[in-house]
Amino acid sequence: MTSDADLCRVWLEALRDERLVAELGSIYADIESQVLDREPVCTASGRCCHFERFGHRLYVTGLEAAYALDRRPKSRSAECAQIQNASDAGTCPFQVGRLCGIHPVRPAGCRVFFCDDSAALWVNALAEVACDRIKAVHDRFEIEYRYMEWRAMLGMFAQTGVATEPKLPVVFEPADPFVPLSVRREGPSSGG
Ligand code: SF4
Repeated sequence: MTSDADLCRVWLEALRDERLVAELGSIYADIESQVLDREPVCTASGRCCHFERFGHRLYVTGLEAAYALDRRPKSRSAECAQIQNASDAGTCPFQVGRLCGIHPVRPAGCRVFFCDDSAALWVNALAEVACDRIKAVHDRFEIEYRYMEWRAMLGMFAQTGVATEPKLPVVFEPADPFVPLSVRREGPSSGG
């Protein structure tokens, strides 16, 4: 049976395959495009990243977690203590104030979650399709599939030390990681 550490390495190594990375990127881009078309209301309150307060859980696959960890801005740490502290506080370890510190590489579940009730129906459908497509990537590239709660998955990487090992070559380093969560923000001074 594959150990947790080996499994984390398998997911990270899988990112060396540009076709796999392109497929994941394409799924994220499709989500982005459909969300932009629908324009759900988002005030960038950051409440949705406070899991306990908002009462929801974010689930990710192993490849998604590896993708986010491998391509996160170098300044965004993923140490055990940080993840544990966030878990204790009920938040995401990558939340910075009200914003997402890994916005460009955040998992699909973050991309389809809005507190705008009117978005619930189409967002659920979009999330289902995205989940199926990501599972299909795991299957097609014969990469073991696990679907776990976000902080538990991050904890698995951190516990095994894999997330803190020297990273694969960074192919993406966002110039400004502090991008608001919003798609369309309300208010006169919120901008676009
Ligand atoms: S990864 Fe970003 S968007 Fe997702 S829960 Fe964490 S802070 Fe929020």
